[in-house]
Amino acid sequence: MARVYNFSAGPSMLPEEVLKTAAGEMLEYGATGQSVMEMSHRSKEYDAIIKQAEADLRDIMNIPENYEVLFLQGGASTQFAMVPLNLMSRNNKADFIITGQWANKAYKEAARYGNARVVASSEDKTYSYIPKTTAEDFDRDADYVHICMNNTIYGTKFHELPDVGDIPLVADISSCILSEPIDVSKFAVLYAGAQKNVAPAGVTIVIIRKDLIGNAMGITPTMLNYKTHADNGSMFNTPPCYCIYIAGLVFKWIKKIGGLGEMKKINENKAKILYDFLDNSKLFKGTVVPEDRSIMNVPFVTGNEELDAKFVAEAKAAGFVNLKGHRSVGGMRASIYNAMPTEGVIKLVEFMKKFEEENA
Ligand SMILES: *Cc1c(COP(=O)(O)O)cnc(C)c1O
Repeated sequence: MARVYNFSAGPSMLPEEVLKTAAGEMLEYGATGQSVMEMSHRSKEYDAIIKQAEADLRDIMNIPENYEVLFLQGGASTQFAMVPLNLMSRNNKADFIITGQWANKAYKEAARYGNARVVASSEDKTYSYIPKTTAEDFDRDADYVHICMNNTIYGTKFHELPDVGDIPLVADISSCILSEPIDVSKFAVLYAGAQKNVAPAGVTIVIIRKDLIGNAMGITPTMLNYKTHADNGSMFNTPPCYCIYIAGLVFKWIKKIGGLGEMKKINENKAKILYDFLDNSKLFKGTVVPEDRSIMNVPFVTGNEELDAKFVAEAKAAGFVNLKGHRSVGGMRASIYNAMPTEGVIKLVEFMKKFEEENA
């Protein structure tokens, strides 16, 4: 069977070139006579792999020297606790913008450790937009403001960062990391589970300003203290070795494409192909206000649940898989991360046109 176009929200497609390199090195990595999966994380070969991965990530994201890059476990969901445990220790307060389920989970978890406050929410319209805020909306004593930059389920994205003044800004970038350039210096902490744009599930990338490390609450478990991992080069315990190796291959793939500027052009073009079609379709329509649309996750509906289900089933049979939308939005969602080729989006749109003609 041929490879399908996988529109899954995560885990999602990896670049075919990366998979082929990994397959070629599966049994013997370099001259080691063993797979990376079998290698000691304390070996000099593995040390080179993790160091190179970090160096390449720093290079493509242009990460300043005063930021630590950590390769952790537990997914983005563990960061929902780790961020408050480490950062909420000054005034025990944090502000949240609720733009969907992930943002809400981050808020609820933080509320277990301190004063978490909702500053704005788009729940009133099924999170189909990004709420507007001004600097005055935020508590100047807050230890941080948390946002979810790209809302995987609802297909919205902060195209402009909220003005939070001097308050440290923390962002969950799980579903938009490496999709376009980002000014790391505007953030206190950035974190992302790998399984959308970086690697298989299992590694979580944390980029944190160094001066914010070392202030964790007393109750913080050793493994949830950023200092533990920063002091040990992400090797306090066994890291997710193989995931980090694949992430390294993905970083090299992005460098070869020309970096994040080039990645952004490709991603914007892919998204435009799909949104242009949706905006002109008589059958399908996008669910998000145009100005806040994500270029990674594109939810759409026909307005008829039976027709939605028929579309998802026929698309699957034609090799376009995982198009069913999240249960809270219904309809469909096409996740078009970095590894989705432009050709996959063009072919999906052709398929949608045909479906529209047959079902209008
Ligand atoms: C997928 C996702 C998560 C959850 O990630 P896990 O690694 O499964 O914990 C959190 N936030 C966003 C924005 C996501 O897309």
